[in-house]
Amino acid sequence: MSDRSLTRTTCPYCGVGCGVLASSDGGVAGDRDHPANRGRLCSKGAALGETLVDADRLTHPEIDGRRAGWDEALDLIARQFSRTIAEHGPDSVAFYVSGQFLTEDYYVANKLMKGFIGSGNIDTNSRLCMASSVAGHVRAFGEDLVPACYDDLEAAELVVLTGSNLAWCHPVLYQRLAAAKETHGTRIVVIDPRRTATCEIADLHLAVRPGTDVVLFAGLLAHLEAKGACDRSWMAGQTRGFDEALDAARKIARSIAEVASITDVPLDDVARFFAWFTTTERTVTCYSQGVNQSSAGTDKVNAILNCHLATGRLGRPGMGPLSLTGQPNAMGGREVGGLANQLAAHMAFNDADIDRVRRFWNAPRMASKPGLKAVDLFDAMLDGRIKALWVLATNPADSMPRAGRVRDALRACPFVAVSDCWPTDTSRLAHVVLPAMGWGEKDGTVTNSERCISRQRRFRDAPGEARADWWMMAEVARRMGWAQDFAYTTSAEIFREHAALSAFENDGRRLFDIGALADLGDEAYDQLQPVQWPLRRGESSGAARLFDGPSGRSLSFVATPYRPVAVPASNEWPLVLNTGRIRDQWHTMTRTGVVARLMTHRREPALEIHPLDAQRFGIAETDLVRIESPHGTTVTPMRLSTDQRRGEIFVPMHWSDAHSSAGPVDRIVGAAADPVSGQPELKATPVRIEPVTPLWRALLLRADAALPDGDHYWSRVPVEGGHAFDLAGLDVLPEGDASRAWVQRLLGASPQAELVVYADPARATFRYAAIVGDRLEACLFVAREASALPDRTVLIAALNAPVTPEARLLLLSGCATSDMTDTGPVVCSCFGVGRDAVCGAIGRGASTVTAIGQALRAGTNCGSCIPELKSLLRELRAAKEPANA
Ligand code: SF4
Repeated sequence: MSDRSLTRTTCPYCGVGCGVLASSDGGVAGDRDHPANRGRLCSKGAALGETLVDADRLTHPEIDGRRAGWDEALDLIARQFSRTIAEHGPDSVAFYVSGQFLTEDYYVANKLMKGFIGSGNIDTNSRLCMASSVAGHVRAFGEDLVPACYDDLEAAELVVLTGSNLAWCHPVLYQRLAAAKETHGTRIVVIDPRRTATCEIADLHLAVRPGTDVVLFAGLLAHLEAKGACDRSWMAGQTRGFDEALDAARKIARSIAEVASITDVPLDDVARFFAWFTTTERTVTCYSQGVNQSSAGTDKVNAILNCHLATGRLGRPGMGPLSLTGQPNAMGGREVGGLANQLAAHMAFNDADIDRVRRFWNAPRMASKPGLKAVDLFDAMLDGRIKALWVLATNPADSMPRAGRVRDALRACPFVAVSDCWPTDTSRLAHVVLPAMGWGEKDGTVTNSERCISRQRRFRDAPGEARADWWMMAEVARRMGWAQDFAYTTSAEIFREHAALSAFENDGRRLFDIGALADLGDEAYDQLQPVQWPLRRGESSGAARLFDGPSGRSLSFVATPYRPVAVPASNEWPLVLNTGRIRDQWHTMTRTGVVARLMTHRREPALEIHPLDAQRFGIAETDLVRIESPHGTTVTPMRLSTDQRRGEIFVPMHWSDAHSSAGPVDRIVGAAADPVSGQPELKATPVRIEPVTPLWRALLLRADAALPDGDHYWSRVPVEGGHAFDLAGLDVLPEGDASRAWVQRLLGASPQAELVVYADPARATFRYAAIVGDRLEACLFVAREASALPDRTVLIAALNAPVTPEARLLLLSGCATSDMTDTGPVVCSCFGVGRDAVCGAIGRGASTVTAIGQALRAGTNCGSCIPELKSLLRELRAAKEPANA
């Protein structure tokens, strides 16, 4: 990339908010000047350029499946919303938006719904991600405040990671922490029911029983008090409610032994964790979705905050609670009041704040009460209370718990509009679909987990007629009669208004104050450098930490009773289903799912299960698994993993109907919501499982992504020149004419294709190749066992090379037509290095991550695979050691 063509922007994936240098031709590199990443990128960030593919994008508005003009589509949305409001009142309509929004999009959406339509019914997919942290912060600090910053991870002596697989979900922060450990020996404790990749740098892993975090931190609070580690003088000046919180904590567990028993963690490990926390002043506690996505999420957050308040460990370098946001702009959404129970600029639904926002906006119809939170919102659509919905930049048909019910709600709703970059399982159910600008095309700001506001800048043209989300909403507002109030022409104008509202009648009462940015000119907005808030009028630099001096507010301890999650006690639902992210995928894969190398790390939505549980349920390694919950059923492949606790299974959250017959796992996930935050429990759904023994397995390569229906399991990954499908038969193979038709349907070959066939019915082995000239158009290999199928790398290579007469024979025999060989499941997606290759290098003497990197380049680019390299080193080392060593 030449320096001249580079644009400074930010990564659109996780809440770390890394700075990216991007060029219009798709080149990306980490921005060395961005404080979040200092030049680093993870595997997803490093592959951003490969996601800039226009082929599958939405490029023009559609109404009921037909192409429409912008005016027609926007007129229809405005008319439907106005008519519904006139007939049924403002609470009969809703917006469901996203942490993928830029702050400017969020600001306009919130202003339109809460100030002009007059309802609180705007909620966001951040409800599924951060709502419990928001509620916990508000209860403890009086405002949604994150006191610490990323530098604290490097200044700390002890870092506690609870409910956070940092290595896969916030990989650049993991790299920063791993480097800190390397240089000054930071002690790391991981609290997670699963042994995740993050545990590779942990000094202690507490594999707690799901949902018992409150017990662990309540026990810690009581222990801190018993050991005289509470900072009474700091507490006296700054806090209230300690005695009540301590009483509640003591009622939960009276001893370390009791904590160990309830959490199902060895007593010595609990004692070690408590001792480390008690004696280490510089302690940071990071928490993420494992804490938030819980029916007791808010109490978990406050149990953690209580321990930091009791020790006065916040506001100083190397200490404090640090909530890690999932999405790139979850924090920005909270700043503008994107959740249904917030007002803009950290104001609340009280009379004074409602009036203040009303006056600032000159709002004709200010919402007077909170709106419906996500789970309730879709329930209200199903029972007819919500009659018009606009979904922007998110895909609830896959990502909401009880996703089947959410789809029913979308179908039942009289009017649904969807704005997105790509077609999704949600847009397929919409009456109006609008093409939105994506990363690299839109322009605005985002705020990361450490309150740092960065610019996301445009560096390429949007395809077709795609437009910015804020523009669409402003156009609809104009058509609903509020042209003057939504007369924005640039994102800079919106940002200035947002900044001015944060300072409006603030007088220091709200720490979210970016008044210093309210008068930024367009040029200054364009040049804005990353800056942390608060940044009040007259200030030139933001605050790295909050509460670094007397704050003038009383911080609150919160009594946190222990409410166990609905862990099944019956034989009917004997297992607990946990869901979460994997290293190389993002959300429902609309973006990462198009990058072939990001699909090589995990190519299927495999359930992970402890080998003894697999044995208990009669599941063989070659089986699929049917998972059933009270909400639905799915069939997935599986992986045996001793990283799972007994009685618990894990399924990744990313797959949708576009990528696998297993569909979204959220179809079977329950929606028990936290009573304070409304965030649903995505980590503990009661389920049962049974084996499904496939009658045949197949590997299919074809040019397009469509696959005909059939009684088979399938999952799809993009490969060079087409798509590869793994198939598993749930019914016997068709025979005779039916077989020929079945093969033709699966291959989807053109009429002029020559079909080359090899069949060995006795061994249930069938191979088909559709060849046009010297080009392989599609091929299908069927066998009884997956192990009898050919090496996929070989077939993918054949898809992209001329098929010579000799190569035909080799192809149908499943042999390589070149000297390439498969290297096993990919570990390093940057350089396509597989597990077998890594094991081979270790076997030949590479005994460190550096040595593996020198031999294979694995781990030398983004570093996201380093935890897995360490894990392989550990496994192979253990395998070499004599059993009695
Ligand atoms: Fe993007 Fe990775 Fe940085 Fe997250 S850690 S912002 S996904 S590059």
